[in-house]
Formats: sequence, structure tokens, C-alpha cells
Amino acid sequence: MTTPKQQGLIARWRSRLPVTNRTPIISLLEGDTPLVPAPKIAAAAGLGQSSVYLKIEGANPTGSFKDRGMTLAISKAVEEGARGVICASTGNTAASAAAYAARAGLRCAVLLPAGGVAAGKLSQSLMHGAEVLAVRGNFDEALKLASLIAEDAGWTMVNSTNPYRLEGQKTGAFEVINALGRAPDYQFMPVGNAGNITAYWMGYQEAHRRSKSGLPKMMGWQAAGAAPIVLGRPIKNPKTIASAIRIGDPVSWKRAEQARDRSKGHIGKVSDREILSAYRLLAREEGVFCEPSSATGVAGLIAWTKRKKIRPGSKIVCILTGNGLKDPDTPKTQPYKMRTIPATMAALRRALSGTRRGR
Ligand SMILES: *Cc1c(COP(=O)(O)O)cnc(C)c1O
Repeated sequence: MTTPKQQGLIARWRSRLPVTNRTPIISLLEGDTPLVPAPKIAAAAGLGQSSVYLKIEGANPTGSFKDRGMTLAISKAVEEGARGVICASTGNTAASAAAYAARAGLRCAVLLPAGGVAAGKLSQSLMHGAEVLAVRGNFDEALKLASLIAEDAGWTMVNSTNPYRLEGQKTGAFEVINALGRAPDYQFMPVGNAGNITAYWMGYQEAHRRSKSGLPKMMGWQAAGAAPIVLGRPIKNPKTIASAIRIGDPVSWKRAEQARDRSKGHIGKVSDREILSAYRLLAREEGVFCEPSSATGVAGLIAWTKRKKIRPGSKIVCILTGNGLKDPDTPKTQPYKMRTIPATMAALRRALSGTRRGR
């Protein structure tokens, strides 16, 4: 086989990752995702003097940032001779684990909260050949079960409790620094199990130690009905439209608080209304269709700038964690309608007789 010019993130960042020459690389050429300027979001947040960028993690092979951690977790599982991998998931970890396990020829079991997973993510897990088990309970309960069987029967856990996941995910920070020439001043992002905010903070710190690239304030956002870190206590029955962050007792809770405190950042909450408003704004004004969960960081940016000042000239990055196509049901709840017309020119002219883009 010839070596393609494109490379996955283990090949790209090899010297900064815990791999050796004996690590088999299981990759779908993940990473290297676009960092897109977002002038309309900047305007909506009253930040005309600053630059806002969107990191489009939905451009990863399975459509979410989870692929960054999974390429490393599955590669290490193969290196260590695992026969199978297991995870609990709100959907995207399962989709990613299923795809990378398929590529590696490993057995993969995924535990999903019954009824709590977006349709696209479930389809991905099934199509990639995972053993999909819907657990009558929430994510936190499914995670407990997965970790118990991992101890019991020697399955390798590929949740973010697996340290290789965060190692892979930290490469997102390296890419942002490469694209901007330095770290941003602020990074806004959703917080669910709190692995990603932990991983980005690791990445920014590592890069800063090597090359004085600077450190952003880490701005994490939870949905109001699933905001354990904001409220300071676990939530028994977390509720939000944003299913990827519907988590009541995050695994990386303490480390997310450290990232917040050491970076002089903030972890706040936004309502489902604010999340959906940002979700629509991104799609209609910037041309970027992300998941509701992914819009949570942007909703946080808009909420934050209503109360606080951001110094003019700042660089602000929002991590859009997953692709909007994964969740085909939420758009149906939005106020947009398809119209059906007869197959005549008269009807077509009438239908297009308005003068502006719809709102
Ligand atoms: C997993 C996920 C999150 C939450 O990330 P954590 O590391 O659990 O905080 C947010 N958005 C999407 C789309 C996800 O898949």
C-alpha cells in the first residue's frame, strides 16, 4: 500500500502521544478539522471588535470529536492484546468506538441509555457491528455497569476514564494553536462528562510549556437541567434536549474545576431555549449545522457577553463537538416547514414571490 499524504492524528503528533514503534495504529485519518471564522456569531454576541472561530469537530470521520480519543484508545487496546472494548455512551462515544473497533477487528459492546440517544448515533453503532444494549436507566447508571464488567471480564473500557482518550483529545488544542499562531484568549465549549475540557486544558498547558503559546480562559457550559458542576451536586435525573451532555455525575468533574480555576475561566449553564437559539443561528447565519449539544458553547458565549466584557481584539474559539446530521429529530421541533406545491410554474412563482431569506 502507498502512504497517503493525509495522516491521522497519531502519525501527526506521535512525539507528544504515549505510543511506541510497537503500537499498531488504528486510524480513519481523524483530526485536522477546520477552524472557521464566525463573524455573525461575533456580531450576535456584541463582539464586533473580536474574532470568533468555530472548530468543526463534526468533520471527523464519525462526525464528532470522540474520534480523537478513540484512535488512541483502540490502538492501545490492540497493542495490549484486548479481545473487546466496551463503553457507556450518550451516543457519540459508541459510534466512534464501534467504527474504530470495526477497523481493528475487535469486538465492541456499547451500553446506551434507553430512549436517550439521537437516531444517527444509534444507526452508526449498529451499522459498524457493535453489540448495542439499551439500558433502562440513564447514562450515569450505564457507565457504572460498563466499568463493573470491565473489571470483571477483562473488557477494555473506552470511556473517558481510559487515559488514552484524553491524550488523543488534547490534540485539538495543538491544532487550534497551529491555526491561530497562538492559543486563543477564550475557549467556549460544552461540558458533559467533562473529559473534553480536561483534555483541551492538558493540550494547551503542554503546548505552552514547549513553546510559550499562551493559555486560554476555559469557558465550559452545561445545560440548565444537567448542570451538576454549576450546582455543586450530582443530578439524579438530568434533563435537556442536548442528549450528548445529559449527564448528572461527570467522571472528570474535579479536573474540569481545576481547568476552570487555573485558567481563570468559568463553568456556567444555559437553558434549552438558549441552546436551540444558538443551534438555529449557527445553521442559518454561519452555514454550520451542529448538534444541539455542540451549540451549547456558543449559547454560553452569547449569554456571557450579556453580563461581562471581553477585551476588544480577543481571539475566541468555540468547539462545535458534533455534526448536526447525527440528530435528525430536533430539527423537526424547530419552526421551519417544507411546503408542497403542484407541479406548475404558476405555483412555483407564487411560492418564491417573497423577497428575502426566511428567518
Ligand atoms: C461527548 C460530547 C460532548 C461532551 O463532552 P465531554 O467530554 O463528555 O464533556 C459534547 N458534545 C458532543 C457532541 C459530544 O459527543
